[in-house]
Amino acid sequence: MTRVLVVEDDEDVALALRVLLTRAGYEVVRAADGRDALRRLFADEPDLMILDIGLPVLDGWQVLERTRDMTDLPVLLLTARGAESDRVRGLRAGADDYLPKPFGTEELLARVEALLRRAAPARWTGTALDESLRLVPERRSAVWRGEEVRLSDIEYRLLQTLVRNRGRVVSTGQLLDQVWDDPQGIGPDRVKFAVLRVRRKLQQSAPATAPDPIEAVRGLGYRYRGDQEE
Ligand code: CA
Repeated sequence: MTRVLVVEDDEDVALALRVLLTRAGYEVVRAADGRDALRRLFADEPDLMILDIGLPVLDGWQVLERTRDMTDLPVLLLTARGAESDRVRGLRAGADDYLPKPFGTEELLARVEALLRRAAPARWTGTALDESLRLVPERRSAVWRGEEVRLSDIEYRLLQTLVRNRGRVVSTGQLLDQVWDDPQGIGPDRVKFAVLRVRRKLQQSAPATAPDPIEAVRGLGYRYRGDQEE
């Protein structure tokens, strides 16, 4: 089933789009703000995104820019009526089409169909591991809560090892063996500092109140618990 991500903060418009698209046979996923949009995008890998420009938290421009770092899925932009500059800017920023609000339902459906017909299946960078994290091996980076975080080789392998064992404690010794090419002479402090660097990088792109995705278990090691509160 073709999946459409609707990014719209206005409840009435979002509901109208959901009803319209569902009736037309699409599966609809909805996000109400920019950050939620990036999370849904990377977790659900939709076939097309309908993106409103005026959004809370991150606006449509920011969402579009970050989306284009990660995927070439077709994007239909919803712009304000008469905002010619928005259309030009949108197409330059990588939107595939735009529609001024308020729009006619038939026209919206026709444009969605046309975009899907034209587009090859979307390509995605990296692999989704849970709702909040993607790992992008070719760039040695992680996409955490929709934002790309650059990691060193060691940091990347450390995070990958913890994620592969998600929910379980990985001991410092196991991390040394699996992450460092030559663990001879490397002490547990090196592991500790590498974990701290990864945590700090992930947390820079998260709200201050967000739970720490990597938990230190005293005397045992470290555990990836993702975006979940314990
Ligand atoms: Ca809006």
